[in-house]
Amino acid sequence: MITLALSKGRIFDETLPLLAAAGIETLDNPDTSRKLILSTSRRDLRLLIVRAADVPTYVQYGASELGVAGKDVLLEHGGEGLYQPLDLGIASCRMMVAVPEGFDYAGAVRQGARLRVATKYMQTAREHFAAKGVHVDLIRLYGSMELAPLVGLADAIVDLVSSGDTLRANRLRAVEEIRPISARLIVNQAALKLKRDAIQPLLDQFTKAAATHA
Ligand code: ATP
Ligand code: MG
Repeated sequence: MITLALSKGRIFDETLPLLAAAGIETLDNPDTSRKLILSTSRRDLRLLIVRAADVPTYVQYGASELGVAGKDVLLEHGGEGLYQPLDLGIASCRMMVAVPEGFDYAGAVRQGARLRVATKYMQTAREHFAAKGVHVDLIRLYGSMELAPLVGLADAIVDLVSSGDTLRANRLRAVEEIRPISARLIVNQAALKLKRDAIQPLLDQFTKAAATHA
């Protein structure tokens, strides 16, 4: 039995067509079912429904041989024990720095000001500002980052942006792209060695499906 861990919502919805292209159907819909282990039309493959940020952990420890995780989540996790062989090209967005419309970000950076930055992505933000030589105090939040600058909690945020609608609705503007983000297929390193006969064909099918859906 091979297990694939993934999260509900965007990642699940965009992984389904890739599974379908590989001839794999799910027997339950996680949006309506409360099951956390889903059977598929392939008796040797099941799906595990976990929180997005938990996917790398399940795969790292081998509780799941495979996973689908956003690059944002993988950067925070660090990638220990994982291979990341395939960019699935789904759940695409950009990791951005955003500030209130009136805030002079370039000026603040030029003057060497110390910035307060709210984010869920502590590792990525820390590395980004360190590489730029910008001094920051990072404030860890778990969601709704857009609120922080509006109520004086932070000068800036680091968050994922796709359409930009949420930024606009909260009178924020993106001032810097940190990196593009998309979801990756991840594999437990030990499992790939021990169960290569079962895992490699799935990797090949995913590779083909991702290429045709691109
Ligand atoms: P949770 O909802 O469990 O707190 P989450 O908010 O990270 O976690 P989702 O919103 O489902 O979960 O996001 C899952 C993944 O989808 C993220 O890790 C990221 O890779 C991608 N993602 C997040 N926001 C966007 C976005 N605005 N546009 C496109 N992809 C996104
Ligand atoms: Mg979310």
